[in-house]
Amino acid sequence: MKCNKKCSSKKHADINAISYCQECDVFMCNKCINHHDEVLDFHHKYNLNEQDITDIFTGICKEPEHKKELNYYCKNHNQLCCVACLSKIKDEENGQHTECNVCSIKDIENEKKSKLKENIKYMEDCSVKIKNSIDELKKLFEEINHNKEELKLKVSKVFTQIRKAIDEREDKILLEIDEKFSKNYFKEEIIHQNENLPNKIIESIERAKSIEKEWYKKKLNILINDCINIEKNIENVKEKNKNIDRCNLNKKKIKFWPEKENEINDFLETIAKFGKIIDGLDFQFKEGENYVLSNNGLICTKNNGGDNWNCTIVGNKEIPKNKVSKWKIKINNFAIKSNTWNVLIGIGPDNPNNKENFYNKCWSFICGNSQLSLKSGNHTKYKQYRSLSKGDIIEVIVDRKLGSLYFAINGENYGIAFSEIPKDDILYPIVMLNDQNQMVEIIQS
Ligand SMILES: [Zn+2]
Ligand SMILES: [Zn+2]
Ligand SMILES: [Zn+2]
Ligand SMILES: [Zn+2]
Repeated sequence: MKCNKKCSSKKHADINAISYCQECDVFMCNKCINHHDEVLDFHHKYNLNEQDITDIFTGICKEPEHKKELNYYCKNHNQLCCVACLSKIKDEENGQHTECNVCSIKDIENEKKSKLKENIKYMEDCSVKIKNSIDELKKLFEEINHNKEELKLKVSKVFTQIRKAIDEREDKILLEIDEKFSKNYFKEEIIHQNENLPNKIIESIERAKSIEKEWYKKKLNILINDCINIEKNIENVKEKNKNIDRCNLNKKKIKFWPEKENEINDFLETIAKFGKIIDGLDFQFKEGENYVLSNNGLICTKNNGGDNWNCTIVGNKEIPKNKVSKWKIKINNFAIKSNTWNVLIGIGPDNPNNKENFYNKCWSFICGNSQLSLKSGNHTKYKQYRSLSKGDIIEVIVDRKLGSLYFAINGENYGIAFSEIPKDDILYPIVMLNDQNQMVEIIQS
């Protein structure tokens, strides 16, 4: 809204004001503002071309019909008021703050002054804090971006490797086809070599017939020599004919497997599933029976209950559905007394009652002294991994999209352990300790 205030100078009463000085409380036209600014350019002025007139503080009450100086302060509304605002007679136009806690502006001066000081301090602290936070965010953002680029580089390296392997395989198979065909089938030369064989035979027939016809007209040794030559020719023809026959016999088919659409699709599906983006799952152990936790909830020691499956430790975060998650558990103290079942690591539902046969509800492996066995429901799948010892780190990778579970020991992945993890069950990271004094730790990513 453009202001249509006129200049405060009586001489300029019909000229539009372009500026308002708060300290002088005057509206000024473009002539008056020059005079004003010659001496009072430090005053706070409003440019009326840019500013809405209702935003300008003139020291006068803006309530319609009030037009009185703002000399009072309403504590309820934290707002300046004029006498009309405080009028005892409250009607449509007056007495907006009659019922408020009001004082003169003089009375609030000290309070506002000290509050101003406080606010300056607050804003100074705030600006430093915000600057630090933003600096930290910038650093974090750079780090995240760096990680992102690094991850993408890693992925494209892997896929370049795969593409190279596929290209090499293609070349190898094409070469194999060439070799197979040149060994198993005749060479094209045989055709060229024997193309005019029928003509040669016809020639020989003609020759033989003419020798026969002119038998008594020539010397005998010439005739015999001709006969020998024809006999030799026939030997030659027989040999060549045998070669041609052999080529005809060699008609077995060479094929490429896989040939059928569905066999190729199996492989394509494997490729389509290849590679996973994994989220590190950060969690702590929940409190429970027969163990103590460190203050940060990351280290757990079995300190009660003897050597029994009576110590179930559940993670305090659900494993997200429809994602791939991983976490690491370190064996700080193995404390093994037998070499069978000792520490169980895996996934399962919550176990609020610490049931002893709870392992039957988990998908896990049991770290024995010399082997790892996989456990799912009531059947144990034995899979020879490697023996574990104190300090080993077991990584659990759960693909809840595909329903598969993997274990890696000290960074070495042992492939799919389970492939039918229900996709909709609520599951948690689980550790069970059998022997007293066993200690495990969550290694955060
Ligand atoms: Zn002024
Ligand atoms: Zn003027
Ligand atoms: Zn007022
Ligand atoms: Zn009020």
